[in-house]
Formats: sequence, structure tokens, C-alpha cells
Amino acid sequence: MFAASKGETIMSDIKLEGGCQCGALRYVLTAPPLMAYACHCSECRRISGSAFAVSCAALQDTMEITQGELARVEWTVESGAHRYGEFCSACGTRIRHGSVPEMGVYSVRGGTLDDQKWAEPMAHSWLASALDWFEPPKDALHYDGQPEDYGPIMERYAARMKLG
Ligand SMILES: [Zn+2]
Ligand SMILES: [Zn+2]
Repeated sequence: MFAASKGETIMSDIKLEGGCQCGALRYVLTAPPLMAYACHCSECRRISGSAFAVSCAALQDTMEITQGELARVEWTVESGAHRYGEFCSACGTRIRHGSVPEMGVYSVRGGTLDDQKWAEPMAHSWLASALDWFEPPKDALHYDGQPEDYGPIMERYAARMKLG
């Protein structure tokens, strides 16, 4: 599903910092995200407490927790797949999500990055369940459900962020 090798071609010395709302948890991404996208599924709305969630996909070994502790919750989605979410143990801000077992890539919640430039969504997924008032930006990629191929989203992100 995710082409992890793709990310390796856009590795650089860029260090991206982020953290939770209370300031107890801080992290560093040692490589740029592979892509940023918005998801409008009902689960992402619940998790984010908002109209949609912005995720930055990152290679698993590129996040270092520099301060604080992550707490974890796991659940099973409708398809039967197992997922986890990790959050600041002090304030509950969701920091990242991924699959159980790990698949080499996880989603960092875009809003937790200090520099929001890196969280600009190149695509909008699950538009079939988006709220009525939401109009996706015309220049972003649009998907009614889950994208089957993340390649075009990653290419667009790399070009936009001038990576690689
Ligand atoms: Zn916190
Ligand atoms: Zn979603």
C-alpha cells in the first residue's frame, strides 16, 4: 500500500519538531513526511474532534520522542484490521496512528507539527462521508473513499515541499 522506499529518496537533513497541546510531549521527525492528506471518514472526525483530520505519513523509524511519554489505545476497524493511536499521557493530544502489527509507516497528526507548512493536504479522502458544507480545494486530489494508490499523493507532496 505505502511505498516506503519512496520516502528514502527524499530523506534530508530537515528536522521537523512538534508536540502536544500541554507541552509535556515533544518529538522530532528526522526525515520529512512522505505526504500529508485530509481524511473525512467518521472515525477521523471523532478522533480529531473536528470536521476532518490531517495526517502526515512518516516512516516508522523517523520519529524520536524527545520529551514526555506516549500512551496508547488499540482497536479493530470494520474491515477487521487492528489499529493503534498514541497520545500525550498528560493531556491526551493524539500524536500518531498506525497499524497493528506495524507496517513501516504511521500517520502523524498534522496539527501537532510546529511548522504547519508540512501539513498542507495534497489529497482529500473519504469525501463520500464529508460534511455537506465542505468544498474540497480544486487543486487537491479527491477520493470518495480510501485511496488505492498513494503514489500520486506522495509525488505531489514531494514536489510541493521541494524534496528529492
Ligand atoms: Zn500534552
Ligand atoms: Zn479517516
